[in-house]
Amino acid sequence: MKLDHDSEKMFPMFDEVGSPFWEKRGVSRRDFMKFCATMTAALSLPAAMIPKVAEALESDGRPSVIWLEFQSCTGDTEALLRASSPTVAEIVLDVLSLDYSETIMAAAGHLAEEARGKILKERAGKYIVVVEGSIPIGENSAYCCIGGRSALEIARELCSNALATIAVGTCASYGGLPAAAPNPTGAVGVGEAVPGITLVNLPGCPVNTDNLVATIVHFLTFGRLPAVDGKGRPLFAYGKKIHDNCERRSHFDAGQYVEAWGDQGHRKGHCLYKMGCKGPATFHNCPIQKYNEKTGWPVGSGHGCVGCSEPAFWDSMSPFYRRLPNVPGFGIEATADKIGLGLVAAAAAGFGIHGALNALRKDKEPEDSTREG
Ligand code: SF4
Repeated sequence: MKLDHDSEKMFPMFDEVGSPFWEKRGVSRRDFMKFCATMTAALSLPAAMIPKVAEALESDGRPSVIWLEFQSCTGDTEALLRASSPTVAEIVLDVLSLDYSETIMAAAGHLAEEARGKILKERAGKYIVVVEGSIPIGENSAYCCIGGRSALEIARELCSNALATIAVGTCASYGGLPAAAPNPTGAVGVGEAVPGITLVNLPGCPVNTDNLVATIVHFLTFGRLPAVDGKGRPLFAYGKKIHDNCERRSHFDAGQYVEAWGDQGHRKGHCLYKMGCKGPATFHNCPIQKYNEKTGWPVGSGHGCVGCSEPAFWDSMSPFYRRLPNVPGFGIEATADKIGLGLVAAAAAGFGIHGALNALRKDKEPEDSTREG
């Protein structure tokens, strides 16, 4: 779907004296270009595209955004608001016109409802909907109502008339935690509740704000949503398994596992596979983008991945501390056990001779809690 820039000239990106919007926010040209470079890299685009991204962000036209919140913990809104880098937060809020958000807008009650109705009436087909939280369709959609209307009714009306819909977080993408068995409210994701719309899913608990911003930047730059996988997730962010980019991967390959919380392997940053890490079965760019201004992510902090960006993760990935029984095509379980038993020949087939020998050598070494890794 193409973005009609001419019809989107609702808010100028330059003020009356010609200053770019980011300058008014106290953001330097250098920081603005750095932001554009970061977004270009996040989208896996060549560096030659940086000027095009900058041009798109500086052009006139700020898409109106309606942020809907249904069955959720508000973690995705929190993730956006807590982005402490002023560059990211301020650029995003200036690039977009966040015209409706139940959680953070000043208006309430009838005034809020009127604001949403006005956008629908005056900008039909020209706004973007961001949905946070699952949509309950059980019991005639009675479990989540806003202003006397059900979440399903609101989502159908607004998403069907939108330029595009972005489902943020796992609940909005696939139902998430509210959809865990026995799913008492009949919670589903946006795609199931409102089929046939232009939709991209950004699952995760919470959504990674960098991925949300990059998706919007892609839309502004190219006039269409990024390419997605079979689960509606953009390939730039969900094209690879966590295991493929994990900082502990070398320990996995070397047969160095955490065997118990707080053991020597845990203190040394060894692989968390045996502690239940679901990284080998989870597609997400957590190891690259990380969270909290790129300072950390679960596996980096010593906890295994729980697979939160996969559909039905609460049911299919739990118990969270039980190791994956098998990874198709990889034989991970058998290989890990064989290394533990010191079966060098068998392990070598999976990890390479070097890693298997290291693992066997480690098995023979006494634990030395005083030695640094
Ligand atoms: Fe990283 Fe988990 Fe894979 Fe180990 S199993 S390398 S901790 S993703």
